[in-house]
Amino acid sequence: RVEVQSIMGPGVDPHLYRASEGDLQTMFEADVILYNGLNLEGQMDEILGSLAEDRPVVALGEAVPEEMRLQSEQYQGEFDPHIWFDPIRWSYAVQATATALAEFDPEDAAIYQANAATYIVQIQTLDGEAMTRISSIPAQQRVLITAHDAFNYFGDRYGIEVVGIQGISTESEAGIADLQAVADLVVQRQIPAIFVESTISPATIEAVQGAVRDRGAEIAIGGQLFSDAMGEDGTPEGTYLGMFRHNVQTIVTALGGNAS
Ligand code: ZN
Repeated sequence: RVEVQSIMGPGVDPHLYRASEGDLQTMFEADVILYNGLNLEGQMDEILGSLAEDRPVVALGEAVPEEMRLQSEQYQGEFDPHIWFDPIRWSYAVQATATALAEFDPEDAAIYQANAATYIVQIQTLDGEAMTRISSIPAQQRVLITAHDAFNYFGDRYGIEVVGIQGISTESEAGIADLQAVADLVVQRQIPAIFVESTISPATIEAVQGAVRDRGAEIAIGGQLFSDAMGEDGTPEGTYLGMFRHNVQTIVTALGGNAS
């Protein structure tokens, strides 16, 4: 029932993204605008605020009840915006999407609600699969090291310790002390792999590899995770479910779990 246009494509970093002239035109012509919120799209606040004066502009992440949100580790008093990495919390965003569309187009409300209900069942299946696979990683190695802190909800949901070298936003750079601390952890816990993210330069991860090597150990790059953007349209990773499965498969394989 809806023509969907996304502003930020594969590989785009939403923390830093600024709307182009073309984006402004697209949003200006839109009937409904959906975004994550919780400061994920930090450079878009003003534009989204002014667009909200004459159409629904809905922050989906803010549909997740406050008591289910995690605090930002980096910005005091703010919430961590990366809610989609817990599929159960993200179900609230799915429901909020259906509600926003149903309010705009009440005639088709039943279709939006039914589709949301079907999709939430698929999300629950995804969650069950992830739970089983991640629990097969040996407990000591259940540590996810990535460049920035996108995976705290993922870690909270699946009992995996998350270490982001660079902090929650991509605006700050990792310091030398952060790198040394991560390298020590890798050696102590014999963690086999760290991960590259689709929206981040691999330089930070390569610096950790160097620091681990200085300690006489080795750490592999376990593959690329989708963090703040999905994959290319038309590929399995171009959807939320496919993107999430790719991440789980990559993490479980690299950390010595049973991925099949
Ligand atoms: Zn992020």
